[in-house]
Amino acid sequence: MAEPMKIAQDCVVTIDYTLTDDAGAVIDSSSDGEPLTYLHGHSQIIPGLEKALEGKVKGEKHQMHVPASEGYGDHDPEKVFTEPRDRFDFEVEAGQILQAHGEDGETLTFQVVEVSDQGVKLDGNHPLAGKNLNFDVTVIEVRGAAAEELEHGHAHSGDGHHH
Ligand code: ZN
Repeated sequence: MAEPMKIAQDCVVTIDYTLTDDAGAVIDSSSDGEPLTYLHGHSQIIPGLEKALEGKVKGEKHQMHVPASEGYGDHDPEKVFTEPRDRFDFEVEAGQILQAHGEDGETLTFQVVEVSDQGVKLDGNHPLAGKNLNFDVTVIEVRGAAAEELEHGHAHSGDGHHH
């Protein structure tokens, strides 16, 4: 029998995963929907998970611990700031997610931390910044990428892929 293909640069990989924080709370899980298919080695998934998947083969189950610094980054206090209340012409409340466009037209996301007399405190960090991530991963499929996938820099998983 041929050796199973190991996950390496330019493989198309499909995984099932459950992501929990250090307290064991489920943050995200592919069981809610489709398994995740991605092109390995093209920064499509967080660096720590990509590194941990390297060399794994179809059918394997692994627990992977990804420190915050290799996940969504450490929480940057400089991205937390307060805007005057009158900058907002709509109702804002704590927990709300706001989007704005940056100078380069990119979408910036902020979470409202607190609304007070001082103003509206916003946090521009990724919601998972500063969190260690624990993945329960099952490798469903590993295959070589098609030339078109390499050209595009992402996997074509069949139905549901749109450009
Ligand atoms: Zn494509």
